[in-house]
Amino acid sequence: MTDRKAQIAANLAKVEERIAAACAAAGRAREEVTLIVVTKTYPASDVRILSELGVRHVAENRDQDAAPKAAASADLPLTWHFVGQLQTNKVRSVVGYADLVQSVDRGRLVTALSREAVRVEREVGCLLQVALDADESGRGARGGVGPGGIEELGELVAKAPGLRLDGLMTVAPLTGPYAGREQEAFQRLMDLSTDLRRAHPAANMVSAGMSADLEEAVAAGATHVRVGTAVLGVRPRLG
Ligand SMILES: *Cc1c(COP(=O)(O)O)cnc(C)c1O
Repeated sequence: MTDRKAQIAANLAKVEERIAAACAAAGRAREEVTLIVVTKTYPASDVRILSELGVRHVAENRDQDAAPKAAASADLPLTWHFVGQLQTNKVRSVVGYADLVQSVDRGRLVTALSREAVRVEREVGCLLQVALDADESGRGARGGVGPGGIEELGELVAKAPGLRLDGLMTVAPLTGPYAGREQEAFQRLMDLSTDLRRAHPAANMVSAGMSADLEEAVAAGATHVRVGTAVLGVRPRLG
């Protein structure tokens, strides 16, 4: 085993232990939580190592970084999640490799994703990114739709050809009433998920929790955690 592979394997084992402990503490089965490894800023060689170590879900947040990496990893049995703010001019590229887009936060993006998914005959899973720090405009500082916009946007995705409404995603807010209160933020996301599932029972994914707060997310009921740093190391640059 290379040094890098041994290092990633050790980190993965630690994260796996944390997830298992959080599930046990919450009285949840380990299978209820899926680990998504966020590979942003790390090379395609790391994606290959992750695949060899049994990881099946990876995520990226910038198309420029993700597109070549996904192309270099096309032979691997991976599900690709796009989790970054997405401009409509990048939609064509992203739909080329992303199985799910977790950062759907506005109608224009839904229209663009739908058009492209239909064009290339793919079905793209969509999570609505919820901004728990949304201001009066209904949008968050780092993207996302405010809680009041979920129902309408969910309806739009559900009706859009080529798209599948899979659930909700959030990033614990740094500002606003939920700043520093990750568990409450994730609990709020769960309540919003319960509301969404009344109209869309299959939209049962709840993506929350990162390296620093995956325990709080699992405790609240997250089905997917997105972990970068704890598996691959501290990123060399912002991403
Ligand atoms: C980078 C990123 C993560 C992973 O964050 P870590 O703190 O490195 O685990 C999760 N979700 C999103 C949307 C990200 O951009």
